[in-house]
Amino acid sequence: AKDEGGGGHFEYEPALHSNAEERRVLEFSLRSALEKNEFVLHYQPVVDAKTEELVSFEALIRWNSEEHGFVSPAKFIPLAEDTRLIVPIGTWVMQEACREAALNWPENVKVNINVSPEQLVEPDFAGTVVRALSHSGLDPKRLEIEVTESIFMRDANVARKALEQCMALGCSVALDDFGTGYSSLGYLRKLKFTTIKVDRTFVQGAAQNSPESLAIIRAVVAMADSLGMTTTAEGVENEEEAEMIRRLGCNKIQGFHFGRPMPSEDARKIFRNAAAG
Ligand code: C2E
Ligand code: CA
Ligand code: CA
Ligand code: CA
Repeated sequence: AKDEGGGGHFEYEPALHSNAEERRVLEFSLRSALEKNEFVLHYQPVVDAKTEELVSFEALIRWNSEEHGFVSPAKFIPLAEDTRLIVPIGTWVMQEACREAALNWPENVKVNINVSPEQLVEPDFAGTVVRALSHSGLDPKRLEIEVTESIFMRDANVARKALEQCMALGCSVALDDFGTGYSSLGYLRKLKFTTIKVDRTFVQGAAQNSPESLAIIRAVVAMADSLGMTTTAEGVENEEEAEMIRRLGCNKIQGFHFGRPMPSEDARKIFRNAAAG
């Protein structure tokens, strides 16, 4: 965004141009991606920090585009949010993940679903959740909705009410990427989150012995404890990091060390193998 002022203008224009062009081209394909069945969900394990038992899978969307091949969610989710295509896409994610969990997973395994602010401020977000639950037969207690602090940036009251309706159904709500946005502790007073997800950047920092990252994780764990919330550490990539996170007292762990996001068939195999001994 360096088009303002002086000589920089001409220098940067080609890059800006191709960026806007790329978005336009992606958006065109994104509009038909749902009906062309180009999305799939992958599932990443979340384990109990102490026992390492599987407690949940987080559903993460994947787009295999006919025109563009694999497109990262980091690229198309922001575009889907800007164009509000995230609303139908998010509804699909909700239905698909609830169905997979209800049909194919043991009852003690939950499903975590990412929800964007644009979905929450839709007039009937809670209705979308109710329908996904009733169509799939999933126990509401098995659904955890993940939101980021960005939901409080606009229409905070609408978003809060929608989440409270979901909690009244029995669902839980996690505050994702904690500490990376415009964090205000005031948010934690406005909504009784079930879980705080400590962002990967703090886990990586602590692993590299950053005293600040360690202090922040300690403080978040202590605060969550006293607020009656649990903590999940994100982005744990090896046993040393897992051990550190256990010592710091996080309740749950997620990261490549315990499993990468995987296709639904691979997630189901975990249960079959466990059942087979
Ligand atoms: P997120 O919700 O913070 O999801 C965690 C991301 O971290 C995932 O990236 C996951 O693959 C990655 N990750 C997990 N463990 C590790 C680790 O140990 N090391 C490293 N380096 N990375 C790890 P992914 O799948 O590319 O998703 C990126 C983001 O896209 C998500 O971040 C989320 O914000 C968004 N997203 C994904 N699926 C959905 C969806 O269905 N709906 C919405 N609204 N957003 C989604
Ligand atoms: Ca998430
Ligand atoms: Ca996260
Ligand atoms: Ca994130």
